[in-house]
Amino acid sequence: MVFDSSDHSDHEQVSYFTDPETGLQAIVAIHDTTLGPSLGGTRMLDYASEDAALEDVLRLSHAMTYKAAAADLPLGGGKAVILGDPDEIDRESLFEAYGRAVDCLAGRYITSVDVNSGVEDMDVIARETDHVVGTSDGLGDPSPITAHGVFHGVRACAESVYGTRSMDGRDVVIQGLGKVGRSLAEELLADGASVTVSDVNDDAVEAFAEEYDVETVEPESVYGQSCDVFAPCAVGGVVNDETIPQLDCDIVAGGANNILAERRHAAVLREQDILYAPDYVINGAGLITVAKEYLGGTREEAYEEAAALGDRLLEMIELADERDTTVLDAADAYAKNRIEGGERTPTILS
Ligand code: NAD
Repeated sequence: MVFDSSDHSDHEQVSYFTDPETGLQAIVAIHDTTLGPSLGGTRMLDYASEDAALEDVLRLSHAMTYKAAAADLPLGGGKAVILGDPDEIDRESLFEAYGRAVDCLAGRYITSVDVNSGVEDMDVIARETDHVVGTSDGLGDPSPITAHGVFHGVRACAESVYGTRSMDGRDVVIQGLGKVGRSLAEELLADGASVTVSDVNDDAVEAFAEEYDVETVEPESVYGQSCDVFAPCAVGGVVNDETIPQLDCDIVAGGANNILAERRHAAVLREQDILYAPDYVINGAGLITVAKEYLGGTREEAYEEAAALGDRLLEMIELADERDTTVLDAADAYAKNRIEGGERTPTILS
């Protein structure tokens, strides 16, 4: 029942890899290579079942195709999962075996970091294959560049709603003061915005509030905080049936992945006159950075392309207005349009 499965039929190639010596069990899903080789991270998780792992990798690789297309990159979408408990493996030998697996895909899939895989693991993979990014001699942490893209995305939203990109005097609430949230706060403050920050980590909030002129809000009160822009930069699923009625903002735009609990929430936000910037568009500069590492380029160039993300988002917002639909629909249409203009390689399922 592989070819008949609706999930699989959408993918060019799904490959399973095992290595009895190291215990490696990995699935690499290549969703689409129309625009270029597929790129996406390798996630290591102790999945409840093989089916759960397959479902995860298919969903994630599909999303990567759209993310790359919406970022105007010459890349396709792919993703990989390694099944297993990260605490119970011999990391080095396992990632070496995994590197050989990636290598035999001959560049159709390029891997990088994801949940439970880091820079050190990418260095091990790099001993076995060239098709890896996010290594220690690469372009470094993409987070500040991701934040730069989010900043320009927020400004594009402000232009659409308020008629000016300047954030001077605008109230922004940032949920999550991690690598992305922190850099975003710094850029917004420099542009004159009033920033309110929130994090489950009290120490992080306290330290940041000592250093910068920001307000703070408790994590459980963040949704009801009155503001112009709510910027989720922590975890996914935060915009849902429970939180939407609490929102008191004009714009939802942040760096977190999977901000919406369900796709239909984009339409619910629109009904409430809240502009939602699709997460995969606005946080695309992380992918832009690792793509630069693979295709050749500098961190400065990645910053420039991150800034350009604002104009692209504005194009999508205008397209949504024209078609009387959500920006998420418009972003998908933009990405599909790029892919359909390309040439698809033959479908292979191994
Ligand atoms: P991070 O781990 O550095 O920071 C996340 C922060 O969120 C932490 O400070 C954590 O304490 C806080 N947090 C967790 N749950 C919270 C909650 N319920 N309420 C408030 N705060 C909470 O992660 P990051 O690299 O800054 O990434 C943030 C988000 O952006 C993630 O969803 C990530 O997938 C996404 N993203 C990151 C990048 C990147 O380049 N780092 C690129 C694209 C997307």
